[in-house]
Amino acid sequence: MLRALLLLGGLAPALPAGPHWAYEGPHGQHHWPEGHPACGGRAQSPIDIQTRWAQPDPSLPPVRPVGYQRPGTAAFTLANNGHTAVLVLPPSLRVQGLPRSFAAAQLHFHWGRPGRGAGAEHLLDGHRAAAEMHVVHYDAERFANASQAQHHAGGLAVLGVLLEVGSDPHPAYDNILSHLGSIRYAGQTTAVPSFSVQDLLPPRLDLYYRYNGSLTTPPCFQSVLWTVFQQPVHISLAQLEQLQGTLYATEAAEPEPQSLVDNFREPQELNQRLVLSSFPRGPKGYSTGEVVAIIFGAGAGCLGLCLALYFVAKRMRARRAQQQDVVFKASSRRTPTADAPRP
Ligand SMILES: [Zn+2]
Repeated sequence: MLRALLLLGGLAPALPAGPHWAYEGPHGQHHWPEGHPACGGRAQSPIDIQTRWAQPDPSLPPVRPVGYQRPGTAAFTLANNGHTAVLVLPPSLRVQGLPRSFAAAQLHFHWGRPGRGAGAEHLLDGHRAAAEMHVVHYDAERFANASQAQHHAGGLAVLGVLLEVGSDPHPAYDNILSHLGSIRYAGQTTAVPSFSVQDLLPPRLDLYYRYNGSLTTPPCFQSVLWTVFQQPVHISLAQLEQLQGTLYATEAAEPEPQSLVDNFREPQELNQRLVLSSFPRGPKGYSTGEVVAIIFGAGAGCLGLCLALYFVAKRMRARRAQQQDVVFKASSRRTPTADAPRP
């Protein structure tokens, strides 16, 4: 959900303007192209990243956040825009290691619903993580703000962080999640004390997938240079449930409140686009997934062979026993006959 900031210019994001859209129903994602033609384009996001087809590119440098640890502001604005929770970021937060210098605009989340774990947008080999955070930046060398940049190829750069459930709460995420109760309804905003935004990112900023895509919500402009980190960040189940279960997609005055859940878009066609990885594949050119598959495959093969040998041996033993039995019975039948004529 990137639209929120597009109305902002650094101010508190208001409710999105333009044609109404949702994830399900008559205004759901399959109808987005009707009001927003770019949503039917051939370079849309998110995608299902097939790790074995990702092209390793050793020239891709680590992502380097600048000013993330001390954002230099007393407080951030956190808003419920009816589609997600958005934290507005000052442009003093920069990201280097991209083709140009990008300035931060906002971050927001995508999630599922209580009792159902999966709500991320980008998939890794078909796996959908519990949730996903997007940190949105704009090309500060060419554009004054994200609203301008969103119309131009490569105008935006988004960092995608996959969130999985682990045993411990992640303290950095509490800086945001503990304030969701103040923005239950669409249109509400609250102040969040400043904290290190870098602590929301995974430890390894040198491991990521890179491709050209789009905003994952209307207007779906195809202007995003995507970086999806390979490592997920782990939050606790209680934290995930806070994200899944606190917000409404409707305003406070709405007589029939609707929970803000399942705000993720289905994966889009890759359409000949190349997905790069900043890291080499595993041994002998295999990706980690393939190595795991090979190990499991070899294990299963060995087990199968052992079982086959066992059954063959068992059958041979049984046949030999049967032959011996026949010999024994034949001889035992012969014995009395041999003995019979004895007077
Ligand atoms: Zn998003």
